[in-house]
Formats: sequence, C-alpha cells, structure tokens
Amino acid sequence: MGIRPILHWPDPRLTTVCTPVDKITDAMRHLVQDMFETMYEAPGRGLAAPQVGVMQRIFVTDTTWKEGERTPLVFINPEITDHATDLVTHDEGCLSIPGVLTPITRPAEVTMRWTDLAGMPREGRFTGFAAACVQHELDHLDGVLTLDRLDPRQRAEVEATLSARP
Ligand code: ZN
Repeated sequence: MGIRPILHWPDPRLTTVCTPVDKITDAMRHLVQDMFETMYEAPGRGLAAPQVGVMQRIFVTDTTWKEGERTPLVFINPEITDHATDLVTHDEGCLSIPGVLTPITRPAEVTMRWTDLAGMPREGRFTGFAAACVQHELDHLDGVLTLDRLDPRQRAEVEATLSARP
C-alpha cells in the first residue's frame, strides 16, 4: 500500500480509453486503497485509475472529506443512466493538471450505475458538486480531460499557461 505518483498532462495515458473490469482481484483492492491514500494526500476529492497509470474503468471519490465528513465511494465500470436537462458550470480542477481551474458546463444532476468493491451493483443520484465530480472522473475513464471540454480559444490560453511553466 502507498501513495502512487499522479500522471500529469500531456501524458498520453490520460487521453486513452480505459478497459472494463471483469474481475475484482486482490491487486484491485490494493489499487483502490492506494488511490484513496493518493487522493487524500494530493489533496483531492476524486481520482481515476488512469491518473496513476492503471488503464481500467475505476475511480474513487470523497466529495465531503474537506468539510470534515468522509464519504469514500469506489466506482467500478460506472455509467450514467440518466441526467437532468438543466446545465450548471463549476470551476473544475484536476490533479493531473495542477493549479489550473477551468469552467466546465455539465448536467446539474446525474444518475450513475456502477459495481462496488464487493462486486455488488450500485446506483446513485448525484447533485451539486458531487454531480460534477463523478462526471469529471468518468471522463477520465474515456480519456477526456477538462481541456477537451473547453472551446479552442480557452484551451489555447490554458495550454500556453501550462507550457510556460518550468
Ligand atoms: Zn481530473
């Protein structure tokens, strides 16, 4: 167990589509433990497996721990089964694009289905910040970053900022 290095843009693994999980193994339970340690240490509220170089459809979130309540969730093979038609914009950060906040517009509420670490099917409705978080993490499993959701002018500005860094 331990903290794993987080990949940073433009690592090509961050823009690769991840493969579904077909079996929950001990290695996967260790991976999930490491992902939580890595996320809390970063510190962040969500982390997807490809961000630590594991190209499988898994992410973890804890959208409330910074306010003092831990609500860890493990999503295996997640999918969105319903979403609200109203849209909302949040400034989203990403542990793979450190120090950059980008305004991203997404459905305000989503219903997601997934498998938990015990192999049980789960379903949940997410609203507010949690809705943005689970959609952001699901994007990672499809190789989509916040940069990919910006218009070309916004993206060029962010990329210029990033490439100006030492
Ligand atoms: Zn991210």
